[in-house]
Amino acid sequence: MASQWQTDLADAVSDPTELLRLLELDTSLLEPARAASREFPLRVPRSFVARMRKRDPSDPLLRQVLPLGAELEPQPGFTHDAVGDMVNRAAPGVLHKYHGRVLLIATGICAVNCRYCFRRHFPYAQESARTDNWEPALQYIRSDASISEVILSGGDPLSLGDRILAELVARLQEIQQLRTLRIHTRQPIVLPSRVDPELLSWLRNCRLRKVVVVHVNHARELNAEVTTALAKLHAAGATLFNQSVLLRGVNDSATVLAELSQQLFMAGVIPYYLHMLDRVSGAAHFDVPDSQALDIARALRARLPGYLVPRLVREVPGAPAKMPLTAL
Ligand SMILES: *Cc1c(COP(=O)(O)O)cnc(C)c1O
Ligand code: SF4
Repeated sequence: MASQWQTDLADAVSDPTELLRLLELDTSLLEPARAASREFPLRVPRSFVARMRKRDPSDPLLRQVLPLGAELEPQPGFTHDAVGDMVNRAAPGVLHKYHGRVLLIATGICAVNCRYCFRRHFPYAQESARTDNWEPALQYIRSDASISEVILSGGDPLSLGDRILAELVARLQEIQQLRTLRIHTRQPIVLPSRVDPELLSWLRNCRLRKVVVVHVNHARELNAEVTTALAKLHAAGATLFNQSVLLRGVNDSATVLAELSQQLFMAGVIPYYLHMLDRVSGAAHFDVPDSQALDIARALRARLPGYLVPRLVREVPGAPAKMPLTAL
């Protein structure tokens, strides 16, 4: 029998007509939404739609998922492999870019399709670490004693079922040099029913240090259901961090980001990264110029305690870490 979260996942809104109807939006948005969703499908769980304001085409949650005609206009500098991932492939589905940690692409599937995501072009279908029952990926990790942290990523690793995840985690924790299991996921936010007893059980039982990095861009994404899910992850032993992407028309203001940091903290989550947009084709309309990003970062520092200020970073191909944008 399917779990509730699997039912909710299968029931996500994928038809632009339905999204517009649920939110009582103008039908003039339909044609562009249809055209852009042929390139990268619309996909958004109903729980997330329920947090959007009706009749507001600029709603910051809606903007993250609504396909727009602007996505189809080519923009100079916006390409298909903006983060240079393909050159860091160490084994099937394993990206080893930074010292001491590897990123495992557990699955290409997400509960939500964020319009700004580099995933819109990355050929993850062929790249999951699940190839040959994870063995080449695990072998690579075992063979490098400098690796102490494994990051389950994707796509969204929690798209996989708990039986698969429990088995993977059991095999990871047998690797002597590993200390930390990190999970990069947006599901506790967009599909809070995902945080169910089965998930919490394998998480709680894992002997590694556990870090869950969620992805919230706007305080309105945090409702009671989400904060309850986050509290359960914390109670199961996970340290919680958040990463956001700086997005024009969503969170490109110090007021919005300060409120986000405060609300995250109320939910037990520490702001970690504020990413500059990856320059992927189709996402140019979300771009925030460096000068404005630095102004926002400066304003945030002036108004929040240091521990609530996320690091403003950019992915630079070949760099040894996410690179901070340097402020004056
Ligand atoms: C972003 C990223 C990480 C994690 O970097 P942290 O600075 O540790 O959060 C690890 N591996 C890859 C390939 C990444 O892109
Ligand atoms: S990987 Fe993250 S940003 Fe990209 S579509 Fe999935 S949830 Fe959204």
